[in-house]
Amino acid sequence: MHASTQTKPRVLVIDDIPTNCRILLESLKSDYHIDIATSGEQALATVIVNQPDLILLDIMMPGMDGYEVCSRLKQDVTLQNIPVIFLTAKNNKDDEARGFEWGVVDYIAKPFYIPIVKARIKSHLEQKKKHDLLVKLASIDPLTGIPNRRHFTNVFDVEWRRAKRGGTAISLMLVDVDYFKQYNDTYGHSAGDECLKKIAQGLYHSLKRPGDCAARIGGEEFAILLPETDALGAAIMADRIRMDIEKLNIPHSNSKGFDHATVSAGVATTTPSEKMDRQVLLNAADEMLYQAKERGRNQVIGREI
Ligand code: GH3
Ligand code: MG
Ligand code: MG
Repeated sequence: MHASTQTKPRVLVIDDIPTNCRILLESLKSDYHIDIATSGEQALATVIVNQPDLILLDIMMPGMDGYEVCSRLKQDVTLQNIPVIFLTAKNNKDDEARGFEWGVVDYIAKPFYIPIVKARIKSHLEQKKKHDLLVKLASIDPLTGIPNRRHFTNVFDVEWRRAKRGGTAISLMLVDVDYFKQYNDTYGHSAGDECLKKIAQGLYHSLKRPGDCAARIGGEEFAILLPETDALGAAIMADRIRMDIEKLNIPHSNSKGFDHATVSAGVATTTPSEKMDRQVLLNAADEMLYQAKERGRNQVIGREI
């Protein structure tokens, strides 16, 4: 694919009249990657695959009409944030007012004037970009660039409920840097920050599966969630992660017993029952972490509950 076509925003045009689709395609294709659907049913099938950045949606269509398409989109958490513009011949003021009740961002009456269609698409895409950036920033830890506690809590909540539904195991690993106060005292606070960045990146890159999630949940504390992972799998992962951090070979002359930065970790695994609260898993992992510290640090201790 040509480089410029990859970066173009994707716009999905949904209209049962091929001439309308063709006019929009011809006028928009230099700025956007256009996908076309000529029925509501076809639109819902393509939208999941194509993940458009914006949708132009006709209201009057045989079979599933635009209102129905819109309400289906709004019910799906993965699709509900895609901005939808109604593009329609239903052009009296009441229709327009009612159109907004469906959660669309805009309403353009036919016959449309292409420069206005273009200007509105551009404006809504800019809004969407800003919105997406804010959502992303709200979930990232600014120092290390990995997910923050807030993001972790959301993922934990979703995965915990998924594990309950599916009757699958879930593991949680809490990681804490050893003697990090001494690290700061020896090398200074900004070197401490650099050390945390390296460790965070190390943890992040140790993960293999797309469902795994590593986050910075406190000063020098990290959490790693391993969905669909039993106690044995989690123990293997945790030890590999601990060794990956050792291999970073970050000098730490004041780390008792070691000459480089190390981490301790507590791991807890369970197959959650219906009544079980996720805090139980967190508490168990925390307790295991405490034991790993007690027993001399630079080690992993796990428990199944
Ligand atoms: P332990 O082996 O028992 O975990 O000892 P520790 O010194 O790592 O633990 P403690 O909780 O006593 O100290 C944690 C230190 O981490 C203290 C704090 O100044 C430092 N810290 C927390 N957040 C940051 C940060 O963002 N940057 C830097 N440079 N240091 C931080
Ligand atoms: Mg700590
Ligand atoms: Mg520590």
